[in-house]
Amino acid sequence: MSEINRAIKGTNDILPADSQKWQFVEGKMLETARMYGFEEIRVPVFEHTEVFKRSVGDTTDVVQKEMYTFDDKGGRSITLRPELTAGVVRCAIEKGLVQGALPLKVCYIGGCYRYEKPQAGRLREFHQFGVECFGAASPNADAEVIMLAKQVLDSVGIEKISLEINSIGCPECRKNYQAALKQYFNDNIDTLCGTCKERLDRNPMRILDCKSPVCSDLAKNSPVVIDYLCDDCKAHFEGVKKHLDAAGVKYTVNPHIVRGLDYYTRTVFEFVSGDIGAQSTVCGGGRYDGLVNQMGGPNVAALGFGMGIERLMLVLEAQKTELPKINTCDLYIATMGEAAALKASELCTVLRNDGFKVQTDITSRGLKAQMKFADKIGATFTVVLGDSEIESDNAKLKNMQSGKETAICLANISDELFAAITDAALEQLEDAITE
Ligand code: ATP
Ligand code: MG
Repeated sequence: MSEINRAIKGTNDILPADSQKWQFVEGKMLETARMYGFEEIRVPVFEHTEVFKRSVGDTTDVVQKEMYTFDDKGGRSITLRPELTAGVVRCAIEKGLVQGALPLKVCYIGGCYRYEKPQAGRLREFHQFGVECFGAASPNADAEVIMLAKQVLDSVGIEKISLEINSIGCPECRKNYQAALKQYFNDNIDTLCGTCKERLDRNPMRILDCKSPVCSDLAKNSPVVIDYLCDDCKAHFEGVKKHLDAAGVKYTVNPHIVRGLDYYTRTVFEFVSGDIGAQSTVCGGGRYDGLVNQMGGPNVAALGFGMGIERLMLVLEAQKTELPKINTCDLYIATMGEAAALKASELCTVLRNDGFKVQTDITSRGLKAQMKFADKIGATFTVVLGDSEIESDNAKLKNMQSGKETAICLANISDELFAAITDAALEQLEDAITE
């Protein structure tokens, strides 16, 4: 197959047959976010490369290995966003949002780009739903953001997913920890992968997130940051746990979670599924109190999460969750001849203005082929128009599931269709009750 017939490796097309699922899931995400006071923000797909280097951190895998970076025609270094937090922070500072009423709560849905080895649950273009909350330093903010993620997962029908939390402390308590970590990895320096050997001096915590089997094996027995927390960070973490307990949210403390991006401080968390293989983290997030200031904004606390929508879809698939199906055609108007086609245009306009989903023949094919198509698209009702129907202004509305036909007056087509849809729904309900 030539390149023009082939999607780029690691990208997915979302076909019309699947887009309803996506719309349902995305709808639940935005709806749930609104319950917590988060409104949508939309930021560009690309930013100056520096935005990501400065925020995500230039010793992370994302920046060192995975970014789509290029020079534009003006010679500027541009990067396709590997995640959305950096762009949202850039925007919140530039547009003065963090100087307005706090806490500022925003959410987003958008494509992310990372040059990774494509495999199940790992793509080069993927989508994240996420939230960011600025100006809330208290532990109940952490709990609230975690509760929001949990409620989103519940609302789309995710059943078995575990929440793991940890605290990676503040830059102060991390100093002692980093020293201990450096010592530990220095003692095992020959075992580390090439990238991690280089990271050892600049950012030893990054080794904990390395995907190479030797490094991750070594990381299993390394000192854990939770043992090095200062009193304030300890109290904060206890507060987060208390609020989660109060809200009835179950979690386990996993001292090995560090997250792959540099900006995190204190609370970090992941929602992990046992149903989708190695790429099991559906949602990751935490607090990043220093980032806004580090990016040139005021000193405001911040936190958030990113949820991988493709991974969430994989969990739903693995669980065999049936998402609600929306009917896409209330009525198909089949036509015989030119006059009927013109009448259909008139009726379609009336019906669509009244909010019905209506289709008619636009291929000039025979009646049999039209009815076959109506069946294929799952039309709830059909009506056939010919000269006699136009003359009498009467036609037969056919319920495609039961085969039942009802005489209708074309002059009142919207009322007639509405009544037929209501009748059919009532009949279905009665059937369900007697079953
Ligand atoms: P992983 O450890 O799986 O590489 P990550 O730590 O790089 O994930 P984050 O940067 O925290 O992930 O992104 C948040 C979420 O976005 C992940 O938990 C995952 O659901 C999703 N995600 C990240 N990278 C990819 C990818 N390449 N393909 C699909 N989803 C992804
Ligand atoms: Mg990654």
